[in-house]
Amino acid sequence: MIGRENAYRRRKTEQVAECECGAHHSREEDEMAKVLKDSGLGGAAVSRRRFLGATGAAMAAAAVATAPLAGQEPAMKPQRSADHHLPNETDPRPETVNRQLERQNTSSAESLEVDSGTVEPFKYSFGLAHKRIESGGWTRQVTERELPISKTLAGVEMRLTAGGVRELHWHTSAEWAFMIYGNARITAVDMDGKSFVNDVKEGDLWLFPGGVPHSIQGLGPDGAKFLLVFNDGNFNEFETFLLTDWFHHTPKEVLAKNFNVPASTFDKVPAKELFIFQAEMPRPLAEEQKQSGAGTGAVHERFVFRPGEMKPTKATRGGEVRIVDKTNFPVTNIAAAIVRVRPGGLREMHWHPLSDEWQYYVTGTARMTVFQAGGKARTFDFEEGDVGYVEMSKPHYIENVGDTELVFLEVFPIGTYRDISAGEWLAHTPFRLTNEHIKTGEEFLRDIPREKVVVRPI
Ligand code: MN
Ligand code: MN
Repeated sequence: MIGRENAYRRRKTEQVAECECGAHHSREEDEMAKVLKDSGLGGAAVSRRRFLGATGAAMAAAAVATAPLAGQEPAMKPQRSADHHLPNETDPRPETVNRQLERQNTSSAESLEVDSGTVEPFKYSFGLAHKRIESGGWTRQVTERELPISKTLAGVEMRLTAGGVRELHWHTSAEWAFMIYGNARITAVDMDGKSFVNDVKEGDLWLFPGGVPHSIQGLGPDGAKFLLVFNDGNFNEFETFLLTDWFHHTPKEVLAKNFNVPASTFDKVPAKELFIFQAEMPRPLAEEQKQSGAGTGAVHERFVFRPGEMKPTKATRGGEVRIVDKTNFPVTNIAAAIVRVRPGGLREMHWHPLSDEWQYYVTGTARMTVFQAGGKARTFDFEEGDVGYVEMSKPHYIENVGDTELVFLEVFPIGTYRDISAGEWLAHTPFRLTNEHIKTGEEFLRDIPREKVVVRPI
């Protein structure tokens, strides 16, 4: 938060210019000073101190008194200030928790001047989601139910203690995962009965195709925290196919017949699902891999990917991106980009022509504007633990507005990553034609890089 406010302050400082009266004001302040001056309430040289010292009441009086006295039309363009202190911007309520919420969401609560129209929210915070706490850890989810526009993807945050197990289970949608913290052991069995057992650490990811049964267990020293993303907006982590739940709802005689053992073998199957539970630490990886792979063989590398071991797909002075999709991780039907943006850097203006995009903010602070067509646009602020969502083909940018590195994930419900950037569009359209539209001059167009930059150099 502090970082973002500092950055805004810095930008504001850059906007101010030396005024004839020798003081530094922002453009907005100069405009308001002009209103006061025209109304007769401000002197020939409205000082910055006097301007800022004017009370809300006096300013309101000026606004009300000016038009009738001068017999003028009210100004069509609302007055705005960089720090939102003008009477038409302020809120007379006392300090409340919700005021803090507004300060964390300045871009939406105060809205950029370019924002306009009714745009469905495309942000939700995991911090607002219900947290289900169990003996071996906790979980919470952001789905279409929390964020109605997120129709094609849903996300889950999960924390497992050292030894804590996310019960053996499966679901119809595919599961893409990103390790945020710690260490975990993951297991799966594929459709050929081959075994997968491997350990993952911070920055690693995995993909379990829909219907493939799997589990996750926290390892030492302090378990794990990770993000799961599913290619179904209506996914529900609390309603998956669980081993205990399934066996509890199968007659014991059928279980006995199925495995050709006495029914008493199943006397201790829990009557209630385990879901997330505390267990003993697993045995050494090599031992568990060998035991589970016996007979049919093993695919112990198949469902895991370690982005830290690949070269960035693109890197500039502004940051870098690692794209993980079918081309380098053949098992995945969920493509992703892991994006790092330095302070002041920008994930360039672009859109995705083939699918929606689900975002997760790992660290840092950002703002994103999504343009909706029909003259509509909206901006939200994001920080650690926030989810963003951009529908197919809607253009957007993501700007690091803090003082620390921004790391976020772009996740797509298709196997192949695709985008089109504003830069490559303009660079490969006749300059004459583009210039007829935006009147920038053709020189500007000639200087645009021929290839997309992904993250703008600072
Ligand atoms: Mn799962
Ligand atoms: Mn994008």
